Amino acid sequence: MLELRNVNAYYGNIHALRDVSLTIDSGEVITLIGANGAGKSTTLMAICGIMPVRSGEILFRGEPIQALRPENIVSLGICQVPEGRHIFSELSVRENLDMGAFLRRDTANIKRDIDHVYSLFPILEQRHNQPGGNLSGGEQQMLAISRALMARPQLLLLDEPSMGLAPLVIKQIFSIIQRINQESDTTVFLVEQNANQALRIANRGYVIENGGIVLSDDGDKLLDNPDVQKAYLGI
Ligand code: ATP
Repeated sequence: MLELRNVNAYYGNIHALRDVSLTIDSGEVITLIGANGAGKSTTLMAICGIMPVRSGEILFRGEPIQALRPENIVSLGICQVPEGRHIFSELSVRENLDMGAFLRRDTANIKRDIDHVYSLFPILEQRHNQPGGNLSGGEQQMLAISRALMARPQLLLLDEPSMGLAPLVIKQIFSIIQRINQESDTTVFLVEQNANQALRIANRGYVIENGGIVLSDDGDKLLDNPDVQKAYLGI
């Protein structure tokens, strides 16, 4: 579904992505793990068209997308839940969800999709009239994921959904991500510092260090890999 081929990207003189190559097949959950500043968010931003790609290619269903504008990439079916959620805090929960459907023209199906995200996250239905800014951190993450789902993505990109959340809420969020993958036929690319939880739900994973991919394997094999255990799992 998605392929990065030798992607290089820079912030001024900082070489943030170094020949990054990876593949994501339709229906998979793929995770990218790495330390602070390794290049995880930059990889997602390059896929979304926010970070310019200096060389290399990004192919979605075989077509190059690295020169497209972000809104055109969303229209193709790629949607990101950004790090820090970035919900519209003054808008209500329902209005945030409507914003997620902004580019859609099939208005008749939007109400059905709102009901679907309310079934995934019943707390959002209870809070549908409340400003997004009044929600707890976990609820805001649920809202950010739901807003992305309202764009009906084929490929959902999640940037550190566990950040700043309590362990119980993290468990809930990861189990819903798995449900979204399985029930809605949505391919998931999950970027995480919480390597343990991310690898548990991933088919395959990649490890990024200093802007370059250093390792890739099945999720369960990475969990058993002594180098990964030492560097990312605290074992
Ligand atoms: P984190 O978990 O902290 O978000 P990350 O793995 O997502 O880390 P990136 O945010 O992709 O890492 O950063 C990759 C590199 O690019 C780091 O060296 C970082 O300092 C640098 N960088 C990121 N954003 C900018 C920016 N706006 N300007 C300059 N350098 C940046």
